[in-house]
Amino acid sequence: MTASPPLEHWPLIIIGTGFAGLSLALQRMNDGQEDFIVLEQAQSPGGTWRDNRYPGCACDVPSHLYSLSCAPPWDWQRKYAEASEIEAYLAHLAHSLGARIRYRAQVRSASWQAREQLWQVELDDGSRLTCRFLVAGVGPLSEPAWPDLPGLENFTGPLLHTARWPRDRDLKGQRVGLIGTGASAIQVGPALAPEVAQLVIFQRTAPWVVARKDHPYATGTRRLLGKLPFLRRAYRAWLYLARELKGLAFLWPSLMRRIEKGVRRDLAHQVSNPQLRQKIMPRTPMGCKRILLSDTWWSTLELPHVTLETDPIQHIEAAHLVTETGARYALDALVLATGFRYQDNPMASLFKGENGLTLEDFWKAQRSAYLGMMMPSFPNFFLLTGPFSGLGHNSIVFMIECQTRWIQSALAHVAAQGKNEFKVRAQAYATFTEEMNQRSKKTLWMQGCQSWYLDPAGRNTALWPGFSLSYWWRTRHFDAKDFDYA
Ligand code: NAP
Repeated sequence: MTASPPLEHWPLIIIGTGFAGLSLALQRMNDGQEDFIVLEQAQSPGGTWRDNRYPGCACDVPSHLYSLSCAPPWDWQRKYAEASEIEAYLAHLAHSLGARIRYRAQVRSASWQAREQLWQVELDDGSRLTCRFLVAGVGPLSEPAWPDLPGLENFTGPLLHTARWPRDRDLKGQRVGLIGTGASAIQVGPALAPEVAQLVIFQRTAPWVVARKDHPYATGTRRLLGKLPFLRRAYRAWLYLARELKGLAFLWPSLMRRIEKGVRRDLAHQVSNPQLRQKIMPRTPMGCKRILLSDTWWSTLELPHVTLETDPIQHIEAAHLVTETGARYALDALVLATGFRYQDNPMASLFKGENGLTLEDFWKAQRSAYLGMMMPSFPNFFLLTGPFSGLGHNSIVFMIECQTRWIQSALAHVAAQGKNEFKVRAQAYATFTEEMNQRSKKTLWMQGCQSWYLDPAGRNTALWPGFSLSYWWRTRHFDAKDFDYA
């Protein structure tokens, strides 16, 4: 009988090579700790910026803020980087980690082994690894949400989800339907419009759209930002503070209502067609969903071959989409900009904590995580960008870097105690969750909109209900008393 091969063991395993996973890996390398491996399911790095390849895909946070402070600077080409440049940036960072990243390593399950005080990670190819600490940087917006529309499966043309756009897909000269008017839709619509014969946009809720004011950086500016670290840091700080100030409006709805008035005025000036203006005038409070940034959305809607349809979709046939009032649109292709499965992300079934409890089952009552990262019953396990750590008004990369620094101090504390295991106390978790629930009630996100921020009970479980600066303050130290050790 041949003995089974010994399991490969690592002190730390990080899953994912998006901003989150790379941030922790680089932070750890910078701290001189090379005791980890990064598992990546795909054959290249980049996470969401690798997977979201739809035309027009770009970031709505300025590039100099949407980058890692712990990594070398990058010569950003424009104020708001396109997805391809962000992917190149992440590939560059990943390259510096060399063989620490293992590609085509898709995690099938990860389960806590209480006796050994280890996580056992099983990959799709059947191989198994163990680690003392496990960090999931798998991205909460990774699994596309397919709309539940009658007859969608009967459509014979290509069905293109923005989060799974095939490479080299050409829709030139075609009649295209676009479902959705969220952050992805307002980027893909204007990018497709110049090349298609007809574009019909199906809007369920009119979004709030404000000017993005995007522009390429002049060569001289790039040179100065590259040569003068002080200037680069000052620019980043200014971008950060300007966004942080906008956070005031999310917490004080009366302030947001003033901004609303200005946007309504802009819309009235810029959109000449009164029927169209009526359709795109938002009816929800500004800020209860993501405020969208675009310089081209309204002008795209005014193009003669673009139609904005606001009648609800009734059903879909082989080559038509039919609305509730009986309008029939003959379409060659259907673009689904319908977002992500945030509240029911299937990744939650991969992780099994104490007594085989999956994260999915643990979250049945409510999705939450202490500081957006840790759950009781899941020792030595961290989530990056977990519940209550998303942002509506500033850069998620800032939150990620707060989390990776906090994880570094948590791991240092546990090591200094000579312990193998730690987990957040149930009471600390419950107190944190209650605080988040109470603070969320005052925010705009819970003022009557349906969005991926809210769970089926209508509670925000996605965003940090405060300034990102207050999140930095909360995560600047590891609070040892909130944890049990073994
Ligand atoms: P989303 O914000 O969830 O928007 C989905 C859109 O699809 C909404 O307009 C929604 O209508 C519509 N929709 C969904 N199901 C539908 C159905 N059955 N029938 C008709 N319409 C339907 O998704 P997203 O635009 O992909 O953005 C998700 C998140 O990704 C954003 O909030 C943001 O965090 C991130 N994102 C960021 C960027 C960036 O620049 N940084 C770009 C893209 C995405 P309702 O509004 O009526 O629900």
